[in-house]
Amino acid sequence: MDFSLLTLAFAAALLLSLATKFWLMTRQMRHVSAHRNEVPAAFAGTVTLEAHRKAADYTLAKGRFGLISMAFGSAVLLGWTLLGGLDALNIALRDALLPDWGPMAYQLALLAVFALIGSLLDLPFELYSTFRIEQRFGFNRMTLKLWLADQAKGLAVGVVIALPLAALILWIMGATGTLWWLWAWAAWVGFNLVLLLLYPTVIAPIFNKFEPLPDEALKARVQALMQRCGFAAKGLFVMDGSRRSAHGNAYFTGLGASKRVVFFDTLLARLSAPEVEAVLAHELGHFKHKHVIKRMVAIFAASLAGLALLGWLSAKSGFYTALGVAPNLTAPNDALALLLFMLALPPFMFFVSPLLSWSSRKHEFEADAYACQQADGRDLASALLKLHEDNAATLTPDPVYVRFYYSHPPASQRLAALPAPVASS
Ligand SMILES: [Zn+2]
Repeated sequence: MDFSLLTLAFAAALLLSLATKFWLMTRQMRHVSAHRNEVPAAFAGTVTLEAHRKAADYTLAKGRFGLISMAFGSAVLLGWTLLGGLDALNIALRDALLPDWGPMAYQLALLAVFALIGSLLDLPFELYSTFRIEQRFGFNRMTLKLWLADQAKGLAVGVVIALPLAALILWIMGATGTLWWLWAWAAWVGFNLVLLLLYPTVIAPIFNKFEPLPDEALKARVQALMQRCGFAAKGLFVMDGSRRSAHGNAYFTGLGASKRVVFFDTLLARLSAPEVEAVLAHELGHFKHKHVIKRMVAIFAASLAGLALLGWLSAKSGFYTALGVAPNLTAPNDALALLLFMLALPPFMFFVSPLLSWSSRKHEFEADAYACQQADGRDLASALLKLHEDNAATLTPDPVYVRFYYSHPPASQRLAALPAPVASS
């Protein structure tokens, strides 16, 4: 195979995906600003013009920021690959570490330094998004101090979890022969299952406080719902989401015996008990329809296919040179292959995203339908309206943008499939 075609295909995918993202984002911004001054008829009685305008302004601010960060991200990707950034970093670390520290230390250092540079480049964007955009629209509750503490904790958790995993994968790649990708996949799946088991009780509490749901009436209500649906969970918890953001949420987490239901305190503060029940019934719908398992199986199958492809590519020197890196002659190329693959894949995968979004939107409709059987659909409708308003989500998105990106159907479509909401404050 002629790998110079890969250079061309990668450059084309990168350009085409960037152009498509720009086209979609500008469509969305034009569409939202054209409808900024009029609440859609279906929401005329329930959404104020002020809230509608705020949602439009929030969408536009995020859109402008998105355009800049997309352009920057593509430039960084090009810099790492075809412009020789990864090649230069590889040579520097290889020459500095390989002689004294050996191949494993050199490869781990390559992964770690690459990740560190990546996060440093992202830092200004994260800061701007949290302390400018979210702040301006009243969503940010974080202080700079908490933000810095989060970064430090994230780094520590990353080192403790990611470094041993990386060492294991690199060892497998070097020691298990041509079928290494199969072993690496098994390790990856095992790692994810362990993480799922440990996340609720070990990792999440590093960042947030979890307390048992104190409201007895709500607790009884929620437990009755779960019993009706035949769903067992270890506990109901409230999380102090308000420390960081005003956005509300509820989720299930964990696996088997560690499974629990978590409500953001912001959600409980905003919704009535029947609305909380309806939101939870929607989440239970995802379980009843096996969306969670299906998604997990799909992700594991996709990673098997990806690793098999990498198993084939990583043995060809053309794979490295086509993407701007000279492969090592006297040291293993495993870390290099992993990094290049992670960098090169997203521009190609971007064109699959409408398919994933479509499947996700279909699941949301199914979960809503389930919620209507197990709880009152009118409560779900009014909860959705409140959450939409609180998140300043636009009611007038561009239809093409929705097809590409929306993991949840737009409010107009979701509410059209539900009974009219009960009038509330
Ligand atoms: Zn859902």
